[in-house]
Amino acid sequence: MMNEIALEKLRNILGNNNVSVEREQILNYLVDETPIPIRPHPAADVVLVKPLNTEDVSRLMIFANEHQIPIYPRGGGTGLAGGAIPTRNGIILSLERMNKIEIDVGNMMAIAEAGVTLSKLDESATSAGLSFPPHPGDENAQIGGLVATNAGGSRAVKHGIMRNQVRELEIVLPTGEILNLGRRVRKNNVGFDLMQLIIGSEGTLAVITKATIQLYSEPAVQLTLIIPYDNQHSAISTVPKMIHAGISPLAVEYAELDLLKKTAEHLNSRWPVTQGNCCLIVILEAADREELFSQSLAIMKICQQQTTYEIFAAESPSDQSNILRIRSGIYTALKSKTMDMLDITVPIAELEHTIDAISNVMATSGVEIPVYGHAADGNLHVHIMEAKDKGLNYVENLENEIYQIANSAGGVITGEHGIGKIRLEKLSLSLGRKELQLMKEIKKIFDPNGVLNPETKLPL
Ligand SMILES: Cc1cc2nc3c(=O)[nH]c(=O)nc-3n(C[C@H](O)[C@H](O)[C@H](O)COP(=O)(O)OP(=O)(O)OC[C@H]3O[C@@H](n4cnc5c(N)ncnc54)[C@H](O)[C@@H]3O)c2cc1C
Repeated sequence: MMNEIALEKLRNILGNNNVSVEREQILNYLVDETPIPIRPHPAADVVLVKPLNTEDVSRLMIFANEHQIPIYPRGGGTGLAGGAIPTRNGIILSLERMNKIEIDVGNMMAIAEAGVTLSKLDESATSAGLSFPPHPGDENAQIGGLVATNAGGSRAVKHGIMRNQVRELEIVLPTGEILNLGRRVRKNNVGFDLMQLIIGSEGTLAVITKATIQLYSEPAVQLTLIIPYDNQHSAISTVPKMIHAGISPLAVEYAELDLLKKTAEHLNSRWPVTQGNCCLIVILEAADREELFSQSLAIMKICQQQTTYEIFAAESPSDQSNILRIRSGIYTALKSKTMDMLDITVPIAELEHTIDAISNVMATSGVEIPVYGHAADGNLHVHIMEAKDKGLNYVENLENEIYQIANSAGGVITGEHGIGKIRLEKLSLSLGRKELQLMKEIKKIFDPNGVLNPETKLPL
């Protein structure tokens, strides 16, 4: 247990009520959404702190750095790579009380403290007559976590991933200095782009305390299409054609029909389409109905070259959000029997070949390996399911085979969930020796004592 003098110091910095040592109060902060079989084990002696402002975070970092106590920044705990789990005795830094948000309508931006949730960002944008169309993670994810993981999500096709939405960041370095990076501008070529370095650094270079996020005008109309196909080939081969045709949907998702039906059941809902074996879900947005109609016509023309099934169009907001809810719920529906969930990403021209290669792995291994994902980004979620008769090493063997498939297609081992604490050993599959060395040197410059989120993102 952290000694009484250190605890007293923490209480002086943050106030008695914002420092917890009771295990029951901390339990929920020792886990995240990583599948249980691969979830890292939390350390025994951890203290939970909840600062209210950036100055408190700064004082906390100076204290931790001086005493070389590991600090684990934490957002909503919805991460899928164990990034927020405290694996050494130390301090969990929850940003949840830092949850103020204001909207700069003139510049169409939200200035959000790190603890603002994705759903609060959405609501605040909408009530200011604006919108935040990307849907980069679970609704309970917080701005700090979304930026730290450079989250992507289903609606990245048109507006991009978190990296493309951030204009300014307020951060606290592991040594306590507060920095303001970026400006509310669309072009900025001053020096090296430290802000972009922090985005996606998974809480290893700095604590994010505030972010300025780009908002968009509120789309007048949206339409969700479900396009059923007989087989994955026909579905996946349509995706590059859509992109080549210059159509820019908000989202293009791929999933098998069985999976969507099971997830709908799990959520006490109903998947609205019964035809085919798999489908593409395409979300379109436009300024008016005419533009929406011409986009959907163009999509239908392309899709009908590969399928004869009727295309389902959901117009009402409730039908559309039900479809997105079911698609987003696939992970939760599969979770209890998932051994690992990979999120490989390949160039879109390689998607068809990649999905075939994974089907071959499934056929030869006899293990169930459902695949779905953000098709227009080439980002596939690949679940390796429980197979009790396969012995101990089957999960790791399958992981390696699938990573090899991604690599040989010119892809990467993770597109959105990150390396976290669960993929450290696999990093060298996607990075060369010199790249790794440079990254380790960067980490040392930011965090000379290695106090910030150790055992995450980079091997020691
Ligand atoms: C049902 C479900 C659906 C999901 N869908 C998607 C998806 O579509 N796309 C996607 O990319 N992800 C998705 N995710 C994963 C997750 O929502 C995202 O990774 C999200 O960005 C995590 O945010 P969080 O606040 O929960 O972070 P946490 O899990 O708390 O932390 C994640 C990482 O960020 C660091 N961190 C957190 N806050 C800070 C901070 N203030 N400063 C510095 N570092 C910090 C942590 O140390 C950790 O390394 C999904 C998860 C679930 C459960």
